Amino acid sequence: MDVIPIMRPWLGAEEAVAVESVLASGWVAQGPKVAAFEAAVCGALGASHGVATTSCTTALHLALHTLGVGPGDEVVVPSLSFIATTNAPRYVGARPVFADVDYETQNLTAETVERALGASTRAVIVVHQAGMPADVDAIAAVCESRGVAVVEDAACAIGSTYRGRPVGAGDNLAVLSFHPRKLLTTGEGGMLLTSDAALARRLRRLREHGMAVSAHDRHASRSVVVEAYEELGFNYRMTDLQAAVGLVQLGKLDAMVAERRSLAQHYRDALDDVPGLILPADPPYGTTNYQSYVVRLDDELPVERDAIMQELLDQGIASRRGIMAAHLEPACADLGAPELPVTERLTGRSLVLPLFHGMDAGQVERVAQALARCVQEVPTWR
Ligand SMILES: *Cc1c(COP(=O)(O)O)cnc(C)c1O
Repeated sequence: MDVIPIMRPWLGAEEAVAVESVLASGWVAQGPKVAAFEAAVCGALGASHGVATTSCTTALHLALHTLGVGPGDEVVVPSLSFIATTNAPRYVGARPVFADVDYETQNLTAETVERALGASTRAVIVVHQAGMPADVDAIAAVCESRGVAVVEDAACAIGSTYRGRPVGAGDNLAVLSFHPRKLLTTGEGGMLLTSDAALARRLRRLREHGMAVSAHDRHASRSVVVEAYEELGFNYRMTDLQAAVGLVQLGKLDAMVAERRSLAQHYRDALDDVPGLILPADPPYGTTNYQSYVVRLDDELPVERDAIMQELLDQGIASRRGIMAAHLEPACADLGAPELPVTERLTGRSLVLPLFHGMDAGQVERVAQALARCVQEVPTWR
């Protein structure tokens, strides 16, 4: 029996042709394709400046580095996120401080952030978890008066909207991911988005060893250019091979979001009446791209989440546990034991259902029926 997967990247012949043309050009490292991809992402989202990187994780590192966050500083993060969100402050020597999240959106709120702010707080990383937009303006409002910077981790949220505009296109420094588990993929890859031209220039320098002139511009120059290294930098460059794939992928974004939202509606139609299941939905102030379709289990439901996942797998259906909680991982044992009741409830009592390009209504129906049986006929298999 074929297993229905959780996710499958939407890659095809067009991407292959794009990569071939970069190979034929002889310039495969960061160059004109990366610049074109940055411009295209900015055009699609209405952002001012895009700086491509090797991943969203390295983009987060550069974000905190340019904000001047360092040892002795605290950065408020949700524990309920992929671990890269928590790791970024640690890369610059700062301490991540965990804040709890809202049960409906799985995101930080102004209230949970405010409780975690302290005298040493320098920044907050607001995650748009699973594509669900966070109420970032409300969070920025409690941060502004205290001089705390807001960074948006939009790794999952390209194509989601917030107050009528694309997520990532606001005033805050925002980061995207192009890992295959997200909507658009370049294999690995990330991008910083900012409205600050000077910051964008510095980010371009930092991702390329701190060089004052890009390697591509130096090679293209008709006169001799001796490069200067103006500050400690990194090698966080995306390649033109990746960017060529990204350009093709970006052209599919609107169709991808529409397809995912339509499949999500099929799930809602099939599961809305099943007692004990709580389904994801758009918040009042925005729309989600359903990067992940996360179903929550009511606390009263006498079923273990992992038992449901095993039962689904036995029936040829992949699922994943809900969003991880970093504070429960061994790597974060030294960060203390904060009280995060909503985070712990969500991470233990939710699961991600399959949702991918090319999935059909019949497959949604099969997943929904299997899940409904799991929660309604518990005694027969628990
Ligand atoms: C995937 C993800 C990241 C990391 O992205 P990479 O591009 O794999 O480094 C960071 N934050 C969140 C919320 C993510 O989901």
